Amino acid sequence: MPNVSKVLIVGGGIGGLALSIGLRRAGIDVEIAEIKQQWTVYHVGIIAQSNLVRAMVGLGIADDCVAAGFPYQGLRFCDANGNVMNETPGVKLAGPNYPAFLGLTRPALHDVLFSASKKAGAQVHLGVSVAELRQSESKVAVRFTDGSGREYDFVVGGDGVHSQLRTMLFGDHLQPRFTGEGVWRYNVRRPPEIDYGSIYATSEGPKAGLIPLTRETAYIFQIGPEPGNPRFPKNELADIMRERLKPFGGTIGELARGITDPALVVYRPLESVLVPSPWYRGRVALIGDAAHSITPHLGQGAAQTVEDAVVLAEELQKNGPLQDSLQSFMRRRFERCKFILEASLQIGEWEMHPDPKADVGSLMGRVAQTVVQPL
Ligand SMILES: Cc1cc2nc3c(=O)[nH]c(=O)nc-3n(C[C@H](O)[C@H](O)[C@H](O)COP(=O)(O)OP(=O)(O)OC[C@H]3O[C@@H](n4cnc5c(N)ncnc54)[C@H](O)[C@@H]3O)c2cc1C
Repeated sequence: MPNVSKVLIVGGGIGGLALSIGLRRAGIDVEIAEIKQQWTVYHVGIIAQSNLVRAMVGLGIADDCVAAGFPYQGLRFCDANGNVMNETPGVKLAGPNYPAFLGLTRPALHDVLFSASKKAGAQVHLGVSVAELRQSESKVAVRFTDGSGREYDFVVGGDGVHSQLRTMLFGDHLQPRFTGEGVWRYNVRRPPEIDYGSIYATSEGPKAGLIPLTRETAYIFQIGPEPGNPRFPKNELADIMRERLKPFGGTIGELARGITDPALVVYRPLESVLVPSPWYRGRVALIGDAAHSITPHLGQGAAQTVEDAVVLAEELQKNGPLQDSLQSFMRRRFERCKFILEASLQIGEWEMHPDPKADVGSLMGRVAQTVVQPL
């Protein structure tokens, strides 16, 4: 018998939906409370690295994700003009039938996660959040923002970087901080030769990348300093993104000329927070960006989030005291996420303040060795 039988997940993002699939596969009843009235997932893409592909296999959704995305084999590191300096083939961690990397649009990933969650029997409440949580020895009583109330054996906050559950559990001192950088993204047509992920680096720090998403599309990103965390007028976003890409030539330089529709530019200031261990109080726990918001420098945020979901689902279905499962969850997750989060922040620091002693290759190598470890 699993040590919980009815779980509430707050937040129907990547982590919340992934956890719902894992728990339903173990026969645990799941409800999801998602604050959005309807699903709105912004249109640019996500890089699923091999450890995320492995976690997708664990949830039984990898084939659908592969069918919805663009599998590719590795990364090319280029200078600002697109001359290839170094090529790193990825590791097929999920086995020979699955790719080392998978580019996916975020809506495509959401569709796979949501339909698997629904098919597995998770119940979703849209437009609802938690107004109050009260824990007793054996239950969590939840009052929702629509006035309804129910009891659960366990509650999980998968409500993202600005998590309300994190504040409810730990107070408001653990807030995400702006790291000093921002990311610009735009979908473009995929040139046929772009069947690898490409990262372009300037010697001054900012980077750009081109990632295949489908047979027809790819996305361009630019990451670099945005001093003072500016807010940009919406109608100027395309002009500003083209300006940010001016130092880059090669294929990205050519494709950048096609960035013309400000409504299709997605800009995000980077924010990060790490909740110290443990990420739970009693019968309420955090996963994903709510616990550890990893900046995109290593393309590991969603990967670590889905790994959280896989591990928590495994732990919650064990026999034995819940506390043992939660301690085991933290043993398996905390140091790994902390190391990757700190490595991401370090790479961002080096982009903002170039340091001749910086050894990005060695740090990325240590991250690569970490993520291939079993969960
Ligand atoms: C620019 C950028 C690029 C990235 N690229 C990559 C990449 O290539 N590869 C990768 O692995 N990771 C990437 N990431 C990281 C990845 O997007 C996150 O780590 C991942 O989305 C975290 O999932 P989550 O479920 O914890 O949070 P989210 O995906 O943010 O989901 C949170 C959900 O909770 C809901 N919610 C919020 N508040 C409440 C509330 N009070 N009540 C109920 N529901 C609520 C939200 O509406 C949302 O649906 C990137 C991040 C950024 C910023």
